[in-house]
Amino acid sequence: MKKTFMPDVTDLSQLQEHQLKGLKWTVQHAYQGSPFYRKRLDAAGVGPDSIRSLEDVRRLPFTTADDLRKGYPFPLLAVDLSRVVRIHASSGTTGKKKVLAYTRKDIEDWQHMFARCYEMAGVTPMDRVQIAVGYGIWTAGVGFQLGCERLGAMAVPAGPGNIDMQCQFLEDLQSTVLCCTASMGLLMAEEIERRRLRGKIALKKLIFGSERSGDAMRARIRDLMGLEDMFDIPGMTELYGPGTGLDCPKHEGIHYWADYYILEILDPETLEPVADGETGEMVVTTLKKEAAPLIRYRTRDLTQRIDRPCSCGNILPLHGRILGRSDDMIIFRGVNIYPGQFDQLLSQLPGISCEYQVHLRREADGKDYMTLKVECRPGASEDLKDDLSKAIADAIKKQMMVRCNVEILDCGCLPRSERKSKRIFDERGQ
Ligand code: ZN
Repeated sequence: MKKTFMPDVTDLSQLQEHQLKGLKWTVQHAYQGSPFYRKRLDAAGVGPDSIRSLEDVRRLPFTTADDLRKGYPFPLLAVDLSRVVRIHASSGTTGKKKVLAYTRKDIEDWQHMFARCYEMAGVTPMDRVQIAVGYGIWTAGVGFQLGCERLGAMAVPAGPGNIDMQCQFLEDLQSTVLCCTASMGLLMAEEIERRRLRGKIALKKLIFGSERSGDAMRARIRDLMGLEDMFDIPGMTELYGPGTGLDCPKHEGIHYWADYYILEILDPETLEPVADGETGEMVVTTLKKEAAPLIRYRTRDLTQRIDRPCSCGNILPLHGRILGRSDDMIIFRGVNIYPGQFDQLLSQLPGISCEYQVHLRREADGKDYMTLKVECRPGASEDLKDDLSKAIADAIKKQMMVRCNVEILDCGCLPRSERKSKRIFDERGQ
């Protein structure tokens, strides 16, 4: 029988039974092992005996990034430190990093989840996986590598950047899978075209971590590299790291590993569940995590709820693409805008290439103005650019209900990045 990392359940009721067992275990474990959680649960008047059905998750108190910072350096710890075998930290930009602890079993569970990602992407032990993401204190590189080795494929731990070496490995080692940020994927795709390497490499799949990518950018990368498929891998350090789900080859949403965590998608204001198709904040409760369990952790990541099953037949449920973080929300002339909305909007229009930038500034009249710089497809005429400019401005007015100036640039005019690209420039001051 083929080795599989998929859960050993055949229908939704079995999955829910498994989730209920895990939820009861987590609340019991957190209550017993963590003074922080015991205090929090006591204050909310709930305890291990309160969990009788999956609905009872809604009676549990929320946990936030602030709780993690306050508990520095070992927040949410629910086991003795002697059982902790590793820590990772998020690459946060301000103040103290979020540090998360792992037991041996936590590392094994993470490895299993990540191997499942590769399995869902159709990666096999015959594949060679070039891992071009960061190694170190954060979870990226080591996560991609653990999962690859667990699956049995060949890991090429290249690390980020160093385009010459990446190209050389693609050619000499005949890597079939490349793991990187979407920005790095674009950079590599354009480099492969520039160096005329396409006929000399064996790349079939790209797996993107930690950055949103619009359809226009994905189409350009796929065309330039001649790929079979590309996948988004979500994840955050608080919840093990990357590898907690994957969009399957049908690309109808991102399957998430519901046998490892419960996902609620809630309105960030009311904290009530959003309806099917609506956008809300991802709130996660782990089912097996030992060292730093999460109970209703507010991730600040925004996504759309998807209630329908995927046509691939896998019973693991779906959520939408990550649209950005609620902290990244821009308020422009009284309208709330999430950065991911630009990806979505630009993906719907033909004639657009991959990169764009949004500039916000305040003029002498005290009003805010938005300029959108967008790259068009190579070889577009001036007339076409004018049409495109108008079409984008119209779409923004219709979908975001704001006015903006649009500048159309030739493909390749905006900067490329080996890590994550900055696309929103808020120059309005305070
Ligand atoms: Zn699917």
